[in-house]
Amino acid sequence: MLDNYENHVKQRADLGIPPLPLDAQQTSELCELLKNPPTGKEEKLMALLRDRVPPGVDEAAYVKAGFLTGIAKGEITSPLITPTYAVELLGTMVGGYNVQSLIDILKSENPELANIAAQALSKILLVYDAFNDVIELAETNPYAKQVVDSWAAAEWFTTRPQLPETITVTVFKVPGETNTDDLSPAPHATTRPDIPLHALAMLESTMPEGLQTIADIPLHALAMLESTMPEGLQTIADIPLHALAMLESTMPEGLQTIAELKQKGYPVAYVGDVVGTGSSRKSACNSVLWHIGEDIPHIPNKHSGGYILGGKIAPIFFNTAEDSGALPIECDVTKMETGMVITIHPYKGEITNEAGETISTFTLKPETIFDEVQAGGRIPLLIGRTLTDKTRNALGLETSTAFTRPQLPAETGKGFTLAQKMVGKACGLPGVRPGTACEPLMTTVGSQDTTGPMTRDEMKELACLGFSSDLVMQSFCHTAAYPKPVDIKTHKELPDFFSARGGVALRPGDGIIHSWLNRMLLPDTVGTGGDSHTRFPLGISFPAGSGLVAFAAALGLMPLDMPESVLVRFKGKLQPGVTLRDIVNAIPYVAIQKGLLTVALENKKNVFSGRIMEMEGLPDLKVEQAFELTDATAERSCAGSTIKLGTETISEYLRSNIALLKNIVARGYSDARTIMRRVAKMEQWLANPELMSGDADAEYAEIIEVDLNEIKEPIVAAPNDPDNIKLMSECAGDKIDEVFIGSCMTNIGHYRAAAKVLEGAGRVKGVLWICPPTRMDEKQLREEGMYGVFAAAGARTEMPGCSLCMGNQARVKDGVTVFSTSTRNFNNRMGKGARVYLGSAELAAVCALLGRIPSVDEYLEIMKEKVDPFAADLYRYLNFDQIAGFEDEGRVIPLEEMPKIEEILGMPVSVGK
Ligand code: SF4
Repeated sequence: MLDNYENHVKQRADLGIPPLPLDAQQTSELCELLKNPPTGKEEKLMALLRDRVPPGVDEAAYVKAGFLTGIAKGEITSPLITPTYAVELLGTMVGGYNVQSLIDILKSENPELANIAAQALSKILLVYDAFNDVIELAETNPYAKQVVDSWAAAEWFTTRPQLPETITVTVFKVPGETNTDDLSPAPHATTRPDIPLHALAMLESTMPEGLQTIADIPLHALAMLESTMPEGLQTIADIPLHALAMLESTMPEGLQTIAELKQKGYPVAYVGDVVGTGSSRKSACNSVLWHIGEDIPHIPNKHSGGYILGGKIAPIFFNTAEDSGALPIECDVTKMETGMVITIHPYKGEITNEAGETISTFTLKPETIFDEVQAGGRIPLLIGRTLTDKTRNALGLETSTAFTRPQLPAETGKGFTLAQKMVGKACGLPGVRPGTACEPLMTTVGSQDTTGPMTRDEMKELACLGFSSDLVMQSFCHTAAYPKPVDIKTHKELPDFFSARGGVALRPGDGIIHSWLNRMLLPDTVGTGGDSHTRFPLGISFPAGSGLVAFAAALGLMPLDMPESVLVRFKGKLQPGVTLRDIVNAIPYVAIQKGLLTVALENKKNVFSGRIMEMEGLPDLKVEQAFELTDATAERSCAGSTIKLGTETISEYLRSNIALLKNIVARGYSDARTIMRRVAKMEQWLANPELMSGDADAEYAEIIEVDLNEIKEPIVAAPNDPDNIKLMSECAGDKIDEVFIGSCMTNIGHYRAAAKVLEGAGRVKGVLWICPPTRMDEKQLREEGMYGVFAAAGARTEMPGCSLCMGNQARVKDGVTVFSTSTRNFNNRMGKGARVYLGSAELAAVCALLGRIPSVDEYLEIMKEKVDPFAADLYRYLNFDQIAGFEDEGRVIPLEEMPKIEEILGMPVSVGK
């Protein structure tokens, strides 16, 4: 085992990265070796056990906890580990498999062991149900009492260092906007949890010198900034070197200063004008923290802490940084440059340069952030604070004053918006005012495959053995079409991980996460997902990084600083040839005209950023259509979105979804009880269909009216920024090389309409990619003969899923111009150097035929002739309850063995029928 491991260490060292954490098999063999260690290997073996086994409920942690417990109880011996040291090591394992052992040791007759176990448990926060065991034991056991007293006194928190008065850092600045694709590039998505293949590929092409320069960093982090600032990693790894070059011209005397700086060893602060826009991937934050954060004792290959300064920090990235124990600060960074040494005064809200001059000011947000940093992150703070509160409550003590408690915003006496009511309901309140720190129940949680393995690892670290959220779903849409070996492993292992905890696991080939998750939603409830496009068209969702998603799934709630809302009110009627996708683009179009949104990155203005977009005025949209509007709020950097729909449209959708969910149970999807529990709740809602609505006097940060009568032609997002909104006529004539019709922005209506445009028009001019969102869409389109039309047009059809949208599967050719129906057109996402327009499927089909963007007259003529007369037939949606025999299609579970609703909820079978 050691030889193999040492080979692995060497291979990784050659790549400049630490070895992978030990797996269960390696840990088991390590434990065997430790019973009788080979001479000369003692320290190495101990270091492996101490620092290289993942904590929580990882299988390897299970093996380690069992081994150490055996030694503590005298059942196993090792010449290197005394029983007391075994208990100490158990205490470093965060929570999960070590907790029950430590509680048992509290009862040991050996007072030294019991005392060490008490000290260890006092600092462990992830105790879940074992809390009750300790409280009960404390009545008779002095060591358990010691633990309970320590929890009540919040010693786990008060013994940690507070945020210092001043923090001196060296600036590493990335000018302009850095999105999460830059920090964690999509083409390398599969390697996010570990990353060897990722780094190999990247180093070959874009950064051959990086390996040499960046010793000792995990491979995924190597991909950070590869496209926007290829030299960035070299710079961050060796700031003094970079600064030398800079100072050559501007500060020749700086050499001495640099040498001093190097010796002082200040932490590096990540500084950018706009930081972390785009997807919710936590790997982006992981990569940054790998470079600028600190080791976490006993936890392999993960960093915490660090300072991130941004003129604007995207909300999800900001939250992810908070969760990871970093200090994110929004402030003016225009006076900061790479290599500068600055001092942050967190309590004064000032940043000074070396001359002591104030170069920026800020107000730290949220007010609890000092506690978050002290606790090692927002997640440990929430879990620990809850533990202290629960303990004091059990002991009949007053609430602890050790923490800064979030203050409720002033009561305005006004009504609530729809979002404020939905979140209020999830908190047991009539409504929640903006600025309130709250913890709404997470009724539905989604996870996709490129972030799923990270979410799984976070769940293990949270010692999660069962989900508290009512429904947690895992999809495989980002990696199904062209899986790499690591994806195949994920496809095999992740479903069991989720379903063993009561989650719902989809299958590769089923289709896009949102097209499925939306079909599992309950009206007026709250949820989240580890994909930035988790934008529920029913209820509301707040997409998050994988750490927070794991937290929401495991604990069933999520911390939220309630954002303000912006109301988008539609009026008028859709004009001929104008599609819903054009209305999606009309929102930023109108905002730009009103000066509420700017396209330039410097001092960017975005009224939507970090706020909830609430939409009304289109109550009869089908839910599939409504998602087109909510989905795109990701591109506006909204924290969440709502759309006001009518009862009838939602009832129709739920009836269809019940049939789909019953069908997946019949097909043997797990966890069947969770799926049928959701069916039961949908039926409950249908039995009494009521929807919340915002109050007339509710307050909004801004109200934007979009008059559909005034939109007379398609609106597109031009290359390469989703905010670079233009009328089609401004782009007419631009040559289009490739067209992609796919992504979660599409539904079956789009494919029928595109087929209608293509029908009988010969082969397309360039490359046309077609990828429906789900296998059900594909099947229906095939049955309707649409695939024949696509074939005749020379289209390349792809397996349902994310396809080109994500850029980690098939990609367009380097440097081409693309017209796409997908969500975002960040640089290099769909193809290296590609220019990407975003717009409707109808316009995409026209572009494919013409090989260019049409004039308004050309486009309207085609729409008038080919699409408008057939609109009622084209824009129909999948009502599974109306498809004969659908519920039994692919049945492998006999009807009589289906979980019974009445057994799950105690509901009468007749409800909702
Ligand atoms: S289709 Fe695109 S935006 Fe939608 S979930 Fe997949 S990768 Fe994300």
